[in-house]
Amino acid sequence: MISIKSDREIELMKKAGNIVFKTHNHLKSFIKPGVTTNKLNDIAEKFIIEQQASPSFKNYNGFPKSICISINDEVVHGIPSERLLKEGDIVSIDIGANYKGYHSDSAWTYPVGKISYDKEFLLKETKEALYEGIRKIHSGIRIGDISNAIEGHANKHELSIVRELVGHGVGNKIHEDPDIPNYGKPNTGPLLKAGMVIAIEPMLNLGTKDICIKDDNWTIVTSDGSPSAHFEHTVLVTDNGYEILTGE
Ligand code: MG
Ligand code: MG
Repeated sequence: MISIKSDREIELMKKAGNIVFKTHNHLKSFIKPGVTTNKLNDIAEKFIIEQQASPSFKNYNGFPKSICISINDEVVHGIPSERLLKEGDIVSIDIGANYKGYHSDSAWTYPVGKISYDKEFLLKETKEALYEGIRKIHSGIRIGDISNAIEGHANKHELSIVRELVGHGVGNKIHEDPDIPNYGKPNTGPLLKAGMVIAIEPMLNLGTKDICIKDDNWTIVTSDGSPSAHFEHTVLVTDNGYEILTGE
């Protein structure tokens, strides 16, 4: 069942979304060669707690850290560690915050120093795929309309779509109904109504669409080692359109 949020719930989710947005902005200046992903995790955790919120992913299904940090061929769910970022890496940072029982969720992939043309292209077009999906949103469309817009953009730019991982509803749980695949047919799937809140999150690869999981049982990587990007916003459905809760 897809929940419709009350005005009070929407206010709390807006606050959670703003905290996630501010955490991304705060973290950005620390993303440079030589920093460990543990350090980025600790900075984000401290910042979220200072805003009277808590990190949504800490202990979620046993996840050991506060945010997910995935480098290069890592698609999602990378565990922060003593690994150092280096010049030319791309780093996906996925942040969730829980404010008074309500969550918001947003991921962004950042360049570390100067990156290759191919990686630059991957970041630009994955971000654009997210916005192609978001621009479809208003009360009365179906999930497939969003999925199809993302798929169309990925296909146009010959980027592969990770199919096993999907966007989702958000609320008093970080993952709620419905699933939002990054591929699909228009006018199919659940109907969207004003007051629903969903996280849209394309994960696109430069090489194969296929993924596997690392020995840590968390980190998802591309099977061919090619780079992967991930962009995500939490979005409120309104009568005439949408409101991004995790952006400006
Ligand atoms: Mg996320
Ligand atoms: Mg998500």
